[in-house]
Amino acid sequence: SDTTSNTPPAPATNQQSFDRARGVLPGGVNSPVRAFGSVGGTPRFYVKASGSYVTDVEGRSYIDLVNSWGPAILGHAHPEVIDAVQQAASRGLGFGASTPAETELAELVRARISVGGVSPIERLRLVSTGTEATMTAIRLARGATGRRLLVKFAGHYHGHSDGLLAEAGSGLATLSMPGSAGVTAETAAQTLVIEYNNVAALEQVFAEHGHDIAGVIFEAAAANMGVLAPQPGFNETIVRIAHEHGALAISDEVLTGFRVDSAGYWGLDARAAAVANPDAPEARWVPDLFTFGKVIGGGMPLAALGGSARIMELLAPLGPVYQAGTLSGNPVAVAAGLATLRLADDAVYSRLNQVAETLSTETSAALSAEGVEHVVQHAGNLFSFVFSGTEPLNFADVKAQQGYRYAPFFHSMLESGVSLPPSVFEAWFVSAAHDDGVVSKIVEALPAAAKAAAA
Ligand code: PLP
Repeated sequence: SDTTSNTPPAPATNQQSFDRARGVLPGGVNSPVRAFGSVGGTPRFYVKASGSYVTDVEGRSYIDLVNSWGPAILGHAHPEVIDAVQQAASRGLGFGASTPAETELAELVRARISVGGVSPIERLRLVSTGTEATMTAIRLARGATGRRLLVKFAGHYHGHSDGLLAEAGSGLATLSMPGSAGVTAETAAQTLVIEYNNVAALEQVFAEHGHDIAGVIFEAAAANMGVLAPQPGFNETIVRIAHEHGALAISDEVLTGFRVDSAGYWGLDARAAAVANPDAPEARWVPDLFTFGKVIGGGMPLAALGGSARIMELLAPLGPVYQAGTLSGNPVAVAAGLATLRLADDAVYSRLNQVAETLSTETSAALSAEGVEHVVQHAGNLFSFVFSGTEPLNFADVKAQQGYRYAPFFHSMLESGVSLPPSVFEAWFVSAAHDDGVVSKIVEALPAAAKAAAA
């Protein structure tokens, strides 16, 4: 009917959508894991999402356990979030100037990331992606210390800036890429990668390079090589050793922040410590900088970094460390973030925990019933499964699993109408919109998937 335009007709199937996308987008995607490379098959192209469901171009709906890779803790398109976004949009999409709502969001973050009324977040800067948040945190660490080197852990993912792609998790783990072409040897050499959960490795790297190390960056709980929580006391040790050598500790809570607890993994850990030791209810470890993303933007492009005023005020315009962004603090994104955080109350976190507990237990039972060797990995309400007989401690352990079992498991679930992360190296993300009926449907799909994994 449209004879005046050269635009091809709207694609009807996922395969047609993918074929067309590959003609103009590298690999047909704008972020690698979306291409289904490690699980094979045709990626689903979505047209809408609501509550716990996503719907593809073929009109088929799936129960979603990806949840936009973390942001959608309330489920998709929560009416109050959508309303806040629509209202903000109607007032203008961006001004390139400050808005009162940015201050409100920063104050809300400071109030939430606190233990016993004390917050390590005295100042916050809003950026648009987690990658920018970690990139800026590292620049701040170098600016604050005048030092060069950065320490990171193998299997931890901190976004795609040059210095952070060495032995990273997430898509690089999925694609078995040890690093990225296009990163100069000089840049790569400034990142020292050590084994996770290994105190001796941490001590050694500081013994050898301590005077030259600007900071250590770590996921508060690793969740980009599948979920792998720190060993008890490990985060505390990171912060202590960094401080002994005058380096900064940067806790990356892009994924865990506002998801595992209202105060992130740091808050979860501090609360557990306070229960264990009521005489000393303060946090045992306090990083110098926190990075946030995902939930803080409620599904819109928004992220942040925060810490003490002393360090954060090294940022321009007050200090010598430059950082800026046309879209930073975008009013529509801030509206989504504010609405999401305001709705994420104790009831939401207790629902997330409950859904995660049921699904991880039921999945494990289904795998066991088929004799599939596995370990369930938890960090708060984040979880995933390692196809291995022994508890992993680090990236090498995770990579040694029988990862080939995941693709058939994933596809069986997808056939049953459940969308899991398309990689064994990713966490499963639940939402508070996963009601009991939806959880039952997921559980019903598990036996067939476990059988497929066993084959
Ligand atoms: N840090 C962590 C822990 C992440 O999980 C991610 C993304 O998954 C990032 C940083 C990068 O965030 P973004 O994808 O928004 O750039």
